[in-house]
Formats: sequence, C-alpha cells, structure tokens
Amino acid sequence: MQAVLKAPRQGGNQWKRLPKMALRLFNTRTRSVEEFIPRDPAGKKVGIYCCGPTVHNYAHIGNFRTFVFADLLRRYLGFRGYEVRHVMNITDVEDKIIGAARASGITAQEHTLRYEKAFFEDFNALKCLPPDESPRATEFIEPIVELIGKLVDRGLAYRATDGSVYFSIEKYRKAGHQYGQLVNLNFDQMRVGERVSADEYDKESFADFALWKAQVPDDGSVTWPSPWGSGRPGWHIECSAMSMRLLGASFDMHLGGEDLVFPHHEDEIAQSEGAGLQEPGQPFVKYWVHASHLLVEGKKMSKSLGNFYTLRDLQAKGFDGREIRYVLLSANYRASLNFTLESLNGARTALARLDECLGKLEELRGGETAPAPDLLDAFRQAMDDDLNISAAWGCVFDWVREANRRLSENAVSPEQASAWLAAWAGIDSVLGIGVKRDSEAPAEIVALLEARQAARKARDFQRADAIRDELKAAGWVIEDTPKGPRPKRI
Ligand code: AMP
Ligand code: ZN
Repeated sequence: MQAVLKAPRQGGNQWKRLPKMALRLFNTRTRSVEEFIPRDPAGKKVGIYCCGPTVHNYAHIGNFRTFVFADLLRRYLGFRGYEVRHVMNITDVEDKIIGAARASGITAQEHTLRYEKAFFEDFNALKCLPPDESPRATEFIEPIVELIGKLVDRGLAYRATDGSVYFSIEKYRKAGHQYGQLVNLNFDQMRVGERVSADEYDKESFADFALWKAQVPDDGSVTWPSPWGSGRPGWHIECSAMSMRLLGASFDMHLGGEDLVFPHHEDEIAQSEGAGLQEPGQPFVKYWVHASHLLVEGKKMSKSLGNFYTLRDLQAKGFDGREIRYVLLSANYRASLNFTLESLNGARTALARLDECLGKLEELRGGETAPAPDLLDAFRQAMDDDLNISAAWGCVFDWVREANRRLSENAVSPEQASAWLAAWAGIDSVLGIGVKRDSEAPAEIVALLEARQAARKARDFQRADAIRDELKAAGWVIEDTPKGPRPKRI
C-alpha cells in the first residue's frame, strides 16, 4: 500500500506567520490532501472509528504507532474545537484467538480479557486518551447478523453449502458499486468467485470474502446461532457493524494502519455501502486516514517476522511510556519510522531539555496571562498541514532554545513565563507528553533527598555528602532552585 501514501515532508522552522489554514489531511479515498470539513452541518461534531487491536497477544509498539497516531489526531481535533466521538473496537473473535486459547487450555473469553486488560494498561502508559467507546465484536453479534441479513436480502451475499456466508464482489459491482475505492484493482487478474474463509489474506489473492464462518470443530464454544447456521462473524463485517451502529451509516473518519487499506477497509466499504443504509450520495466514510508502519531495520515490525518489541519489553529496559510515546510521535504519520533503541535514548535527552526549561519557567511564573500567541500559532500551522508533527516539534524546540537563551540572560518576566506555560499547556493537550514533575522521582530518591536536607539542617555535612553521593550513584543530582532543592536526572 506504500504506493498510495505520499513521501514525507521534512520538519522545519515554522515561526514565520502564514495565513491561517483549516486542518488538512491525506484522504486515502481521494489520494490527496484535503481540507477537513466535518459532516455535521454545525461544523462541530466529528465521529472517528479506529480499527482496534486483535487481543490474541500483547500488542507490539508497531501497533501502538497506529493507536498513538489516532490519539494525536483525536486530541488535535479537540484542540481545534471539535467535539470528537472516538470509537476503537476490540477484535475478540478471530482464528488466532481460538488457536491460542485452545493451546493454553482456557476459554477464548478468558484469553481475550487478559490481553484486552494488558492492552489498555499499555495504552494508558502511552498517555492515549480512552476512546469514548471500545466495543467488543462478541457483544455486537446481533447487529452483525442483521447486517449480513441485509446483504443477503439485497442479493450481494450468498450462503455456501457449509453454512458460511460470502460477499459477492461480482454482484456488488454489477449493482453499480465500485469495489476498489481505496486501491486501484485490476479485475482481469483477480480470481473473482473464488472464496477465502481465513481472516488473513495473501495480499496478491483476491476473492469473495466471508461474512459468516460456519462452525468447525476447532471453534469449540466460540459460536453463535444465525439464520444460516451456527458460526462466527468474519473480521471485516465486525467493523462495519460496530462503526455504523455507534457512529451512524455515514461518519467522518476511519483510521488504521496502512496494512488495513486492503482488503479490510475496502471490504468494510463494500459491506457498508452494499447494505444501502446511507443517505443518497453519502459515502460510508468521508475521510480514510492511514498511518505508515513502524519499521525495524527497514522491515515492518510484526509478530510474524519476530522483529517486534512490546511496550513491556521496553519498560523492562528502563524506558517509560512517555519516552516511547515521544519516539512514536517523532515522525509524520505518513512517513515510515525506523525504530531503534538509540531513538529512545534520544527521546530521553530531548524530553530532559524540555522538562528543564519548563521547570525553570514554572519557578518564574507569575499571575494569569493569555497563552503566547506566536508559539500556539506556529504549532497550529504545523499541525494543520496534515499533522506535520516534525514541524510541530521543530516549533517546540525552537521555542525551548529561545526560552533557554533568555532565561540565561535573566530576561524572562513572570508574565512571559506564564504566557509560554499557558501556550505549552495547549500544545501538550495535543502531544500528551506532560511535564515530568519532581514527584515523578521514585519514592526512594525523594526519601534520600529529604534525609539529606535533614542532615544539612542538623549540620551533619558528612552524612549530607554521603547521601549526595548515593543519589549520584543512582543517577540523580540535587538542583538548588528558588523553591528549594529538587532531584534531577543526571
Ligand atoms: P492488529 O491487532 O493486528 O489488528 O493491528 C492493530 C493495528 O496495528 C492495525 O491498525 C494495524 O494496521 C496496525 N499495525 C500493525 N503493524 C504495524 C506496524 N508495524 N506499524 C504501525 N502499525 C501497525
Ligand atoms: Zn476494522
């Protein structure tokens, strides 16, 4: 799918004032960067659906690149004044889940609940805002069966002899629909009419796809009744049913990683538009927005290649969710991002610079002041340009450099510090990086700091120095500030 995604732009200095723009995003459906205009006539409400995790195992940080991108977009729409309703489903019925549950001798539900819980722990650690709704596929069987019934009634789906139900691409096209709205397809080379029942497709193959999969012995108790016999839903139909049930037959934005463009999203369009629930002339989804993959040495990070890290792997190496979020947000969403452990060290250094500057401004802050307009404007201009996060970070670090210069000259007034911090609060409502606070030092470091202060008060300088050395060995120094001593990472 790389071909439909344009080359990344480079970040840069965005300080110069540009005319105010609307938010523009690359729409995979039109293969172009378009101005974002919500469907809501009042221009306020925005509905977003992001394909969520398949909870068969821990998600890897490649998966999280997509979810952090969805979080960034959702936060930015909020910053732009939209009222966002963000739906992210949980795929909790699927071939791999059934296989994994059988292998570990537990029920599929026990298996999926375990990994769903782990997913949300990681999601929170990465400072992603909770979606407004996280529907589980297994709790939407009724609307799924209803939707399949509509497709059967309209002659676009058929029951095979084993009781599975397939979507007929040929009939869909003959009914005047376009199959291939997100990708250009060569129908002459396609094996139209051939059926594929697996959830996973060979990218080159092309076939009618399963809406309902007849029960097989391996499914165990993972089965539901339907007018076509017992079985379970196919993956694509789950997303069509859940998104339309929660956001309406037409909604604003559908997100996911680039690997979902075809066939998953193309099939979602076919099912949803084939059911004919939209108002005349309205598409199922107005903007399709896809994130590029996270790479490792030039290859997609994936379970099947074995080249993946989970968040937990990186936490075990001493990195925190904030640092990992920073790395995942370090490149524009359409640019491929090559993951290295070195980039996490770079994140630590960059965030320490930011924290130090914010800490100094915090000490100077005085009174309530409006946010610094230049800084906010520059940030907005960068983000309006198809979420140009590289340019947005450019604005932030240009500002940090400028603030540090003026701080070193004692040339920052309390009002200026407040104005900058207020602008930063707005920016951070989007970036979700937060400020590292003193209290974020581990409890034992805070305890050592307090013990050192007590020793100094008691004029036991030998002990105070010993504690200082102990802190240093643990990677912390004590910085004297107008608000008293505080721990700082070396
Ligand atoms: P899954 O749990 O496999 O259904 O995938 C969840 C999400 O992660 C989907 O939106 C995928 O497109 C996305 N994804 C999978 N691998 C990567 C990767 N290496 N980089 C970015 N996103 C990915
Ligand atoms: Zn989906």
